[in-house]
Amino acid sequence: MPIKVAFMQGSSCWGCHQSLLNLHLGLVPVLPELDIVYWPAVVDFKLSSLEARPDKSIDVGFYEGMLRTEHDVHNAKTMRAKCKLLIAFGTCACFGSVHGLANQWSREELLERKFETVESMGEPNDMVNKRDPELTPICESVVNLDRVVKIDAYMPGCPPRKENILGAVAFLIKKDPATMKRDTNVCATCKASPCLLEQGKLCWGSVTAGGCSLMCPGDNLTPCTGCFGKSDKPDAARAAKLKGMLLAKKVGPEDANLVSQFLLLYHGLPTQGSLYLAADPMRKLALGAKMEFTDDVVGASLKTLANNPNYQFSNSNVCGTCDRNGNMNKKMTQIKRNYEGVPDTGECFINQGYVCMGPMTQAGCGAICPNNGNSVCVGCYGPVFGVGEQGARGISTIASLADVDIDDIKSGILDPVGLFYRFTLAASEINKKVNDTHATGGETKQ
Ligand code: SF4
Ligand code: SF4
Ligand code: SF4
Ligand code: SF4
Repeated sequence: MPIKVAFMQGSSCWGCHQSLLNLHLGLVPVLPELDIVYWPAVVDFKLSSLEARPDKSIDVGFYEGMLRTEHDVHNAKTMRAKCKLLIAFGTCACFGSVHGLANQWSREELLERKFETVESMGEPNDMVNKRDPELTPICESVVNLDRVVKIDAYMPGCPPRKENILGAVAFLIKKDPATMKRDTNVCATCKASPCLLEQGKLCWGSVTAGGCSLMCPGDNLTPCTGCFGKSDKPDAARAAKLKGMLLAKKVGPEDANLVSQFLLLYHGLPTQGSLYLAADPMRKLALGAKMEFTDDVVGASLKTLANNPNYQFSNSNVCGTCDRNGNMNKKMTQIKRNYEGVPDTGECFINQGYVCMGPMTQAGCGAICPNNGNSVCVGCYGPVFGVGEQGARGISTIASLADVDIDDIKSGILDPVGLFYRFTLAASEINKKVNDTHATGGETKQ
């Protein structure tokens, strides 16, 4: 059955929807799997039709844009109520994007500048007081989506690349392989002799759905790491043995890798760069978040990795996919503004004196700007996983790399907030207090 999907637009430039439409014929294979029930940017749906739907009657909601008006706040809350899964679609929704830079000024200062004193206005006028009272009130500040409602997944990018969007949609509609048999498990047809567990090796066949044709343990060496997902009829005795082994075992690097592989495959977690699930247990583990562990093999697998120095969350920054990475010498002997000179097409931008946000930016775009555009990464995919403040990380990274006089830094970086916090100011800790007070009206998240 197709999944019910809704697309909402907050205050935004529509670029994320444009990126989705840029898929063109790439959308054809997935469209029959989607029942699009609300998409005002493309079809003339009325908001009342969304409001009239029963709560949680839509499978997946995509919310593009930041929240600047009370209408945006209402729309975000409506989407949260109607959708089972809500995705922050694009960097505006994830972090506020460039619009968040407006938070450096008060709402009154912004209105006065835009409608009264801006040079292109010609004669001074009184637009603010003449404003149509029917128009939605403007919030005191710009906020990103998760400051107002609970989010299930994040898809950054300004805009997200069309491949990221397709990957995320494919993940959401993925179907079980036709051969999968949840009513049995891998052990039921395993040819390993003796069982890997008897050899003291970890193997998750007991809790994994049967039907796979590879049967890894058959070679007596390779464990099953759960790619067919959950079995509804596990082998209880072997599952109990495995759980005991996991809890008793001292997990070294090799086993830690295996356990991570199992958790990733068994849960069918999306690969990095397209979609981040707020509930992703692997990310929570890596962040050291407080977690409840279930009393089963999955809980034991997570527990064995918690606080384990051998557990390495697989993560990368834009430099990881940048073709210039090999010659990055991590030293800046000058600071240049982006328009100064013509950058060398092979050399790392930082070596050349340009401030590139690649080191502090989450991978996922394929380093499209340095690789394809001979331009620096400006950080639109947001902070690298585990880094709260992309801007602060940027400032400290450049400060540690730059072997340059402080006055040259000051004259080369005229707008540090705009440079380092270009996409994330609204979501940053410095903005949190004002954001929470104004945009949510003091309410807690739904
Ligand atoms: S994330 Fe970027 S492309 Fe998408 S709506 Fe916001 S400004 Fe536009
Ligand atoms: S635990 Fe692994 S090796 Fe043992 S029977 Fe099950 S699948 Fe085979
Ligand atoms: S050019 Fe930028 S993204 Fe590429 S390696 Fe250098 S710092 Fe990283
Ligand atoms: S290279 Fe940087 S600025 Fe360009 S798309 Fe990727 S994350 Fe965004």
